[in-house]
Amino acid sequence: MRIAICPGSFDPVTKGHVDILERSSKLFDKVIAVVMVNPNKTPTFTKDERVEFIKKATRHIPNIEVDSYLGLVADYAREKNAHTLIKGLRAVTDFEYEFQQALTNKKLNPELETLFMVTNQEYMYLSSTIVRQIAGFGGKIEQFVPKRIEEEVFRRFNEK
Ligand code: ADP
Repeated sequence: MRIAICPGSFDPVTKGHVDILERSSKLFDKVIAVVMVNPNKTPTFTKDERVEFIKKATRHIPNIEVDSYLGLVADYAREKNAHTLIKGLRAVTDFEYEFQQALTNKKLNPELETLFMVTNQEYMYLSSTIVRQIAGFGGKIEQFVPKRIEEEVFRRFNEK
């Protein structure tokens, strides 16, 4: 079984993420979207909220699994017997960081290949940070996050 992993902070999941997950799911038997827990960062949404949002947003994709992990992607991949890591690339600005990560992951787990998937043009400006900024000022986020989670993301964000 060919398994691909799509790691990220997904704080919260956006239409850009879902696009990458949908396209990846057509290329692999199973795709795992994994919320990476970084103890040095304080996310807006909890790990469980982030997982729940991704689950709702990807309900229509049959071969997707949603998980969370505290640790290194390289170790997670080994545990799941996955040999492909998919990263979405928006702009040149993503490139340098992703390149460094990919080379590091290769050192940590030589059996893991990083593949870059080019963003959908429509979402190339989109990030979770932008969604948080807009929601923070009471703006409408319907264009940026999947319809199924829009209200909940907005409400929970403003409760915090
Ligand atoms: P963000 O930068 O939005 O906080 P994450 O850390 O959650 O993103 O990203 C997880 C993965 O999704 C990364 O590979 C990132 O490059 C990719 N990604 C995020 N937003 C988009 C987008 N709009 N188009 C393509 N890929 C994206």
